[in-house]
Amino acid sequence: MIQRFSIAVLGGDGIGPEVVAEGVKVLRAVEAIIPEVRYDLVEHSVGAGEYRRGGDPLPPAALTRLREAHAILLGAMGLPDVRWPSGVEMTPQIDLREQLDLYNGVRPIRLYQELHGPLKGFGPGPGRRPIDFVIVRENCEGLFSERLTPRPAGRDFETDTLRITRRGAERICRAAFRLAQKRRKHCTLVDKANVLPSMAFFRKVFDEVAREFPEVRTDRVYVDAMALYLVQRPDSFDVMVTENMFGDILSDLGAGIIGGMGMAPSADIGDRHAVFQPSHGTAPTIAGQGIANPIATILSVAMMLDWLGHAEAQRGARLINEAVEQVLADPANRTADLGGKLSTAQMGNLVCQALT
Ligand code: ATP
Repeated sequence: MIQRFSIAVLGGDGIGPEVVAEGVKVLRAVEAIIPEVRYDLVEHSVGAGEYRRGGDPLPPAALTRLREAHAILLGAMGLPDVRWPSGVEMTPQIDLREQLDLYNGVRPIRLYQELHGPLKGFGPGPGRRPIDFVIVRENCEGLFSERLTPRPAGRDFETDTLRITRRGAERICRAAFRLAQKRRKHCTLVDKANVLPSMAFFRKVFDEVAREFPEVRTDRVYVDAMALYLVQRPDSFDVMVTENMFGDILSDLGAGIIGGMGMAPSADIGDRHAVFQPSHGTAPTIAGQGIANPIATILSVAMMLDWLGHAEAQRGARLINEAVEQVLADPANRTADLGGKLSTAQMGNLVCQALT
């Protein structure tokens, strides 16, 4: 019997449509190999371009359709010169996380090739230290929690509240522990519990949840120390869980040690919906040139197939991951961000060829 999944595709702005085109190409190639699972792709216009056209970067009609899809594949949204009248940049991708309650931000960080990253002695293979960990970022509260709260005009101060609820902390810690159970059974809390009461509370909840997972080893690291350790000894981590803003920052640092934003996939997962997208933004300075690295998006497609939960879709996910590994094992296969010459489409084609 053929299983069909409806996938909403949001190319968005900047390099978004370029990298999503390669993700879709790879998805179609997987479909040709595993015809038991079909993906019905429906494109929607969202983002800064949509705001310019219709006045709303995330129109309610599109949001309704997104709720109906089995999963959402997103490129990137927002452009620096397209802002709300208040001057704040549009962030429909953050709105989407909040609207669909996608609290579990999963950001795998994996180094495929020593010469991709800036650190010496790291990478796969004998004699090198592997980098392979996952940042689990709480997506729906933390320091972003009051970002949309209207503020009185003309004040000579502004505040942002770092809000941690028991429900929010429990569910993100459980998600991190469940992931750790499937990996190397090690979960690290990243916080600032020595200074901020909200973070001391987060640690208390983490400690409580940890008791539900006695087989998972835990440790606790302050976020400033983690910035140091991610450069000095990134191989000592498996899964780390943290609040929204810390996760945002550490994700970029993580991407930095594996070759940049073009290498970092992500999934924003809720109990009913999920969005899969590269961790990067719209990279306006390289948009339209066909040189963006599509690997983060292609790996996000693999995360999507895995999340769909169907055995054959999950086989597709494994095929993609193996194909990416195979392609990137050859130092010649690099896009410009990794110091190579391949175009976006050439990299996508190589992954498709390696799939079988
Ligand atoms: P945002 O605020 O939406 O996260 P940003 O402008 O801060 O966006 P990115 O758009 O992620 O950040 O870009 C950060 C840097 O990484 C830029 O130099 C950009 O050119 C580069 N970059 C991002 N994505 C890619 C990619 N897929 N391939 C190559 N370079 C990329």
